[in-house]
Amino acid sequence: MEYMDDLARIAAAVRVACVAAVDDAGLPVTCTAEVAGADGDGLYVLVDRADECYKLLASRKSMALAGVEGALDPDGASLSLRGRIEEAAIEAVLAFAAAPDAGAALRALGCCDIAAFRLYQATGELVERRDGQVSRMPVRFGEERMNARVKARSYIVTDECDGCRACVSKCAEGCIDVSIVPAVIDQDRCTRCGNCATACFQEAVIVVK
Ligand code: SF4
Ligand code: SF4
Repeated sequence: MEYMDDLARIAAAVRVACVAAVDDAGLPVTCTAEVAGADGDGLYVLVDRADECYKLLASRKSMALAGVEGALDPDGASLSLRGRIEEAAIEAVLAFAAAPDAGAALRALGCCDIAAFRLYQATGELVERRDGQVSRMPVRFGEERMNARVKARSYIVTDECDGCRACVSKCAEGCIDVSIVPAVIDQDRCTRCGNCATACFQEAVIVVK
């Protein structure tokens, strides 16, 4: 992906989307979001701070996003992404956003307190329909930053592990091997999300630098 060009294209393709975070019971919680723009640090997504989903997004630091533009029109696009987020200063986002009316879609829905998230690492797909042609563009960005984090720290499992498997379902990468105890994390596939450490009641997962 030509990083900036394609990020800008993605941001312009779908203005209003649905975003989802996962609650403590592992169930998705969704809210309406506005795709406000992009810069070299990622894609910016606005949500209503009053929405229950906002708190989950802020604490989980991850997001799934799906949006459709012009579903019944000859031309249109659909976007699906999942990845890692961090909160961004709303003033900066509104000032930089390519769309001069960034935030307008949320305000039209009655939102008075807008929060901004930067999607700094994501994978997904952009599907565009133009002039009767459908093009599919795989989306993958932000790995450099994740790789930098990978070098900075690693999650490992200590002898406190009792093999209970509680961490396994929390690992989106499927990189925890509990066929042996203590469990072993595949460091090449681990994204350092920390979900396994949160899930482990034995406190067997530790971070090393
Ligand atoms: S949750 Fe903790 S104790 Fe259970 S298998 Fe995973 S690392 Fe081991
Ligand atoms: S840190 Fe995340 S990716 Fe790595 S093993 Fe734990 S849950 Fe899986």
